[in-house]
Amino acid sequence: MSNTPTPAVSPPAVAPTPPPSSASARITKEPVVWVHRWNAALMSFRVRRDPGYVFAPGQFARIGLAKENGETIWRAYSIVSAPHELFLEFFLLVVPTGEFSSRVGRFNVGDTMLVEQMPQGFLTVDRFKQPGREQDLWLLATGTGLAPYVSMLRDDEVWKRFENIVVVLSVRERHDLGYTEELEQLAADHAREGLAKFHFVKTLTRDSLHGALQGRINTLLESGALEVAAGVKLNDSRSRFMLCGNPEMVETMRRLLKGRGFRMNRKLEPGHIIVENYW
Ligand SMILES: Cc1cc2nc3c(=O)[nH]c(=O)nc-3n(C[C@H](O)[C@H](O)[C@H](O)COP(=O)(O)OP(=O)(O)OC[C@H]3O[C@@H](n4cnc5c(N)ncnc54)[C@H](O)[C@@H]3O)c2cc1C
Repeated sequence: MSNTPTPAVSPPAVAPTPPPSSASARITKEPVVWVHRWNAALMSFRVRRDPGYVFAPGQFARIGLAKENGETIWRAYSIVSAPHELFLEFFLLVVPTGEFSSRVGRFNVGDTMLVEQMPQGFLTVDRFKQPGREQDLWLLATGTGLAPYVSMLRDDEVWKRFENIVVVLSVRERHDLGYTEELEQLAADHAREGLAKFHFVKTLTRDSLHGALQGRINTLLESGALEVAAGVKLNDSRSRFMLCGNPEMVETMRRLLKGRGFRMNRKLEPGHIIVENYW
């Protein structure tokens, strides 16, 4: 396997996810049933979902492509779809030199790919110990790191578990912003008493756009602009963080948050932060 992530946190106390790719995992060949291109390098696609594929929002799938020499290239992709949806959706950046993503970038409806029938990963909200609802969930992403959060937000559960949900999405340019309309629509659909209030902060690092901040997430946290834009204050008894995407962002934010008194969430020591690195 090429890029199984090293879990940055210890396994969850309940419902342990099976270990990365075991030889016994069933593999199915699934047709691509939908493709959406956000720009030349950014796409979403759906494959048929085997009825036996059961996952939690925030987990990732391993998908594979057969090479001419008979080998299979496997890569991890966060699942965008929610557990109640009948397909598996993914949000993919085409890395021009990338062995896997450059091929998927040319995919169309009817093409097929392999899916390992064993979801993986610990970026799931059930990992946070939560006696009541009085907590704020901060979902921080760079680029396609937004994928697992879309899955969580398409599922009703997360809206009932927190008082505030803050999504912070950092991309280079405005045309790299995927799923923003859907997130705004989901927020409108869940704007009810008793459900979480939604706060969406977009930030661009190489462009400007009305309604979006400019700069990296860490810089915005340090200057205080992030809390102002979100309208939510960091608070060590309320704030819970997920960090997903570019490992540099994940590491910088982890260090910054640690400096503010927040801790990694561990099996025997519940904390505030769960992370997932994409490379
Ligand atoms: C748990 C997990 C979940 C992931 N989920 C997603 C996902 O939902 N969407 C997605 O596009 N990728 C995701 N990835 C990354 C994905 O598995 C591949 O690494 C990626 O598509 C590149 O594969 P490749 O063979 O085309 O390129 P490779 O030849 O393997 O090149 C890898 C290089 O491309 C860059 N890179 C890889 N992924 C990204 C990315 N997403 N954004 C910007 N630069 C990147 C990095 O510099 C990396 O070193 C995930 C990775 C992990 C470990």
